[in-house]
Amino acid sequence: MFTSLPDKPDHPSIELELLETWEREGTFEKLREQNRGGPKWSFVDGPVTANRMSLGVHTAWGRTLKDVFQRYKALRGFDQRYQNGFDCQGLWIEVGVERELGLNSKREIEDYGLEEFARRCREVVVKSSDALTRGSIRLGQWMDWGRDYFTFSDTNIEYIWKFLSIVHERGWLYMGHRSTEWCPRCGTSLSQHELTQAGVYQERADPSLFVRFPLLDREDESIVVWTTTPWTLPANVAAAVHPGEEYGRRENGEWVAVKRFPDETFVERAAGSELVGLRYRGPFDDLAPGAAVEHRVIPWDDVTMDQGTGIVHIAPGCGGEDFELSRVHDLPVITPVDESGRFYDDFGWLHGVSTTEAADQIVGRLGETGFLVESGLYTHAYPHCWRCDTPLIFRLSDDWFISVEAIRPTLLEENAKVHWVPEYMGKRMDDWLRNMGDWNISRRRYYGLPLPFYPCSCGHLNVISSKAELERRAVEGIDQLEELRRPWIDRVPIRCAQCDEPVTRIPEVGDVWLDAGIVPFATLGWENDTWVDEGYGTGAARGLTKADLPDHAYWETWFPADWVSEMREQIRLWFYSQFFMSVALVGHSPYKRVLAYEKMLDEHGREMHASWGNTIPAEEAFAQMGADVMRWQYCAQPPDRNLWFGFGPAHEIKRKLLTFWNSVRFLVDYSNIEGFEPSWDRFEPEVELRPLDRWLVERTRLLVVAAEEAYDATLTVEVVRAFEAFVDDVSNWYIRRSRRRFYSFDEAAFRTLWFALVQSLRVIAPIMPFLADHLWRNLVQDGPASVHLAGFPEPAAADEALLDEIAEVRRVVELGRQARSTSQLKHRQPLRRLVVAGASHVAHGHADEIADELRVKAVEFGDVQSSELRVKPNLPLLGPKLGPALREVRERLARGEFEELDGGRFQVDGHVLEPEEVLVERVGLDGWAVASEAGLTVALDTELDDDLRLEARLFDRIHEVNVLRRESGLAITDRIKLWLPDAELVARYADRLAQETLAVSVEVGELRIEKGSR
Ligand SMILES: [Zn+2]
Ligand SMILES: [Zn+2]
Repeated sequence: MFTSLPDKPDHPSIELELLETWEREGTFEKLREQNRGGPKWSFVDGPVTANRMSLGVHTAWGRTLKDVFQRYKALRGFDQRYQNGFDCQGLWIEVGVERELGLNSKREIEDYGLEEFARRCREVVVKSSDALTRGSIRLGQWMDWGRDYFTFSDTNIEYIWKFLSIVHERGWLYMGHRSTEWCPRCGTSLSQHELTQAGVYQERADPSLFVRFPLLDREDESIVVWTTTPWTLPANVAAAVHPGEEYGRRENGEWVAVKRFPDETFVERAAGSELVGLRYRGPFDDLAPGAAVEHRVIPWDDVTMDQGTGIVHIAPGCGGEDFELSRVHDLPVITPVDESGRFYDDFGWLHGVSTTEAADQIVGRLGETGFLVESGLYTHAYPHCWRCDTPLIFRLSDDWFISVEAIRPTLLEENAKVHWVPEYMGKRMDDWLRNMGDWNISRRRYYGLPLPFYPCSCGHLNVISSKAELERRAVEGIDQLEELRRPWIDRVPIRCAQCDEPVTRIPEVGDVWLDAGIVPFATLGWENDTWVDEGYGTGAARGLTKADLPDHAYWETWFPADWVSEMREQIRLWFYSQFFMSVALVGHSPYKRVLAYEKMLDEHGREMHASWGNTIPAEEAFAQMGADVMRWQYCAQPPDRNLWFGFGPAHEIKRKLLTFWNSVRFLVDYSNIEGFEPSWDRFEPEVELRPLDRWLVERTRLLVVAAEEAYDATLTVEVVRAFEAFVDDVSNWYIRRSRRRFYSFDEAAFRTLWFALVQSLRVIAPIMPFLADHLWRNLVQDGPASVHLAGFPEPAAADEALLDEIAEVRRVVELGRQARSTSQLKHRQPLRRLVVAGASHVAHGHADEIADELRVKAVEFGDVQSSELRVKPNLPLLGPKLGPALREVRERLARGEFEELDGGRFQVDGHVLEPEEVLVERVGLDGWAVASEAGLTVALDTELDDDLRLEARLFDRIHEVNVLRRESGLAITDRIKLWLPDAELVARYADRLAQETLAVSVEVGELRIEKGSR
């Protein structure tokens, strides 16, 4: 006996129950045991930042995809690692702790104490990793929980040190002095790839200023510049013109580019090159830094003529390109603001003022001194700090870089070998690799990888490559070194390798993407001599994980990854950093295949923001839609489009899943009634099958083949589509067509349906692990205990001819239904005949099924004058073509005097009309309802007679009685006694009434039923 199923599945309760069952039975461990020694499939997990106290629906998307493919590969017998990872350092963590502690600046962190701060950061990671683990388990993700990697482990850090020392040996490491994007709140520079993250560029209104700089060499003349960053004006040293463009002088003496102001009249014109070299008075020469500068006009070919005045204000301390120009033209560099974005003391009245606060004061002052031409507001996309949302500024800073020039060609070659899905993601990576600048790896922060750089005053740069080397060369402080982390490591000076003097570490920490990028080496034991059990949990990770530190042979086995998957923005982040590090260390890509996917938005297509109230905590989604429905929503999404996630789409998915549920329920109910007990040993339906059964067997094969292809292409959306089409075929064709065979024990029908449903559970198990296993455990009682232990069905080529045949029959039926709905005839009204035109001969053999499905007495194949072709001129095209002849053509078309040619063309009155020149409509003639699609036309004869009307009443009554049966709470097998008021109906159709309603007697009387006996 199967367990009866309720009307609909209660996803959350099914899921919670299965989580316990899996735990109790050790299902995942059994699966791993079963696959041990099988072929290897290497997946490397991109770490999730451990700063949130619950799983988000965004994160659940990626985790679902990872789980789906690991589960699929496990069904195919692949041995896998299942190691989850947590990202544990960097600004994400720090900023959270700062908020919690109410700290607002770096000074406040230092006053609070770096040791305590580090401990608070670790606490966040401990709590968050615990919460994320719980959320992931609830999602159904099978991972080797408890053996996760944590990027703040000393082991991970040591591996990065090793990478950095190798990079240094190659001469790629250098300290650069340049103007870079800087977050004044976080007090650190950001690297190019950090600016590519979602949400960095936001619309913002800034002051728009036109400012005149009076020329010293020409009385009453000035040049006019445009800027949106007033705070940079006190750092102005030059103004750039395009040497080849024409500039003009207004009557009031102001020079601007002519192209920018084409309607103005100019009293003098000159090429930009003629203005080069002119000296001018700076806008803030009353402040010390400006007073010391000789401002002049310089040439610059990159000056554009699409905004501003065609003359660009240059402040090398506040802009990347400006800084480059300062090198070319030997310009002085003024750095106006400190790490927190406040003016230095020598800026007089501006000292201590932030860049934003300074704007108003600067505009006011420019007005007073006569420099201001015009001020307004300008809205543009402006970069913000990806973590704290503060608008970024440009600031001159000393940062550590890895030069990318030497390795760029290899990076490009290696990327070309990676299989990217969707393909354009690989192109994006290629673009990035071609255009990226040197990697800025230093951050002026606290909770991060300590850069092992010890520059000595003798000129030697010491780069430490391991903890052992640090211990060997330490002058003091090794005893107090709790972790390779600030502040402890800052108390360990070393001896300079060149001069033997004590030397201290630079205070900077590393870019977090180093932490995640080293993962394919640090977690797989690259170049490690001996395997250390539980050896990865070092430093801050001690006690958090039982992950081993494997040996080099293990790395050889599992590197490179067969597959990785993350969101698109990771192209320039994790996909990039591990790629770069891997190509640098071993010369090739760390992954063979990538699945990248677009963004998640809310169900109306808006970004999700806590402040807009449209975010969905995963907990809420688990409780309301269930993990399977979430997973379905993620998997039904093509990766090249944004996912609109929400409860609305979830509702739609539940509706679709209900069709599947009802098919299983149908089998369960009738199996229990008829005593059908399948056995796993006789899985294939080997009894004598009817054509429809054979079709379902082939249809199931097609599902297996299509799903296998889709899984292998890492396109879950295609798996979902294949499954949905299959469910529709099972429910709306096989079960509809075979229903009666289940009312008595027709073994072939039971066995075929059972086989098809069980196979489909194995196919869909990776995507919907809970519902699939729940139903499996009911339907398969003597086979593998879980669908996840049952393996993927063996793919076999399906009988295409048979599948095409039924697909065509289904198309005819579908068109027949459409025709019926246009006729306004109710579905229960039988009709005399259906004419099908354009069907292949194979459909002819299915006339009975088509007749039955559409309730028609006869199906004819061939043409019938059932519809009329109406052709009208497409006037905007035909008018110009035909001129005066149009009128005659139009009238002939209206009278039907035309000839249909091939390819949708028509001939009228000697003119050939192309398909786009006419509007074609096929209309049913009186007495016919017509539907047509792709060469197939069906026509329903809609004429009714008394017999047909009486039969319609029969179907109405059967329906009414069945509703009554249900309302009376009768079981589907209960017999009844039936009374009906229609004497004619009872006289003519008593037998059919009895049969359809399970009545033991049918008599004339007021409509009622009574329970009868068999
Ligand atoms: Zn910031
Ligand atoms: Zn030295």
